[in-house]
Amino acid sequence: MTLPAGDTLVTYPDGDLASTGTVLHVEPLADGRSAVILDRTAFHPVDPVWPDQPADTGTLTADGRSVPVVGAVVGATDGAALHVGDAPVRTGTDGWSFLVCHLVDDATGIDTGATVEVTVDGETRRALSAGHTACHLASLALDEALAGLWTKDVPLDGRGQPAFDQLAIASSRILPDGSVDEYRIGKSLRKKGFAAAELPEALAAVTAAANALLAGWVAAGADVAISIERDGDGLGERRRWRAGLPDGVVEIPCGGTHLHSLAEVAAIRVELDYDQEAAALTMRTTAVPV
Ligand SMILES: [Zn+2]
Repeated sequence: MTLPAGDTLVTYPDGDLASTGTVLHVEPLADGRSAVILDRTAFHPVDPVWPDQPADTGTLTADGRSVPVVGAVVGATDGAALHVGDAPVRTGTDGWSFLVCHLVDDATGIDTGATVEVTVDGETRRALSAGHTACHLASLALDEALAGLWTKDVPLDGRGQPAFDQLAIASSRILPDGSVDEYRIGKSLRKKGFAAAELPEALAAVTAAANALLAGWVAAGADVAISIERDGDGLGERRRWRAGLPDGVVEIPCGGTHLHSLAEVAAIRVELDYDQEAAALTMRTTAVPV
């Protein structure tokens, strides 16, 4: 049984919820499930290396029989072995193929060469896309709201603000209609010039400033067009989220799914919580559907 020599072609970056593909490989897993690999898919998998956006939910249908997809993860192969969700390299590494592994409990009838219809649950996808778009915008708003706390020059974000999000991010989790970002405010961030001692007193004003920016962007609505730019349609190709904010176009590297415009949300709000002892700042973002 040969393993696929190229990446799975993915159609979810444009918002696709259905696709037709050919089965290239079915890998039985130790837990009894099977990983189904197609030549192309609309199904967004979780990337275990940076598991910000959870996998889609949905079904595979072959020969009139539908099975639920119980999980979807990024797989990788160098031709010798298939790593399902535990790739030893980062997604996009040269010499490797990156594959969407659709996990099913029962792969009966899903054989190599078969044609499979992929169907993604639209409401779960919409909610995760709203959460992911809100997460990116919140990070940009937070960068600007915290700009006054930097005492040294640091790398800038796509809007020319000190890149707090990029420098301090510890984990990012996309939720339905929201996200939770954890930032580490440790010694190295303070050495870079972040005035952490001033943060407790500034927190309320920082939160208000971030929310004011977000409210302005959401008010611009349909004028804030969002797209995913990419070098190619393979899963391992680099993709970038691009948003036309009122003060300019901004890009962020991103492998997830997004809204097409800010007309699709009624509001985006953040709450900040700073735990000094744990050196952790938590940002909870909520996107209110229209
Ligand atoms: Zn992203």
